[in-house]
Amino acid sequence: MPKLNTCGHPERKHHAKGMCHACYMREYDADPARRERKREYMREYNADPARRERERERNADPARRERKREYYQIKKAAKCKSK
Ligand SMILES: [Zn+2]
Repeated sequence: MPKLNTCGHPERKHHAKGMCHACYMREYDADPARRERKREYMREYNADPARRERERERNADPARRERKREYYQIKKAAKCKSK
C-alpha cells in the first residue's frame, strides 16, 4: 500500500515523510542549519567564477550523467525491495 500524503495533497505522489515533493522541499528548506549551509555554498560559489565553469563542464559530461542515472536507478530498486 502506498504511503499517503498528510500535507493536504493526497492526490499528489508521495515523496517523503508523508508529504508531497513540494511540501517536503518547503520543510527541508525551512531548516535553519540547512539554509546556512546553502548560503555558505552560494557564497563560495559566487566568490569563484571559475568554479561555476568547472561545475558546468563536469555536469555536461555524458559519462557522468550516465553514472548518475545508474546510481539513482540502483538506489530506487534497492528502496523498492526493502519495502
Ligand atoms: Zn503537499
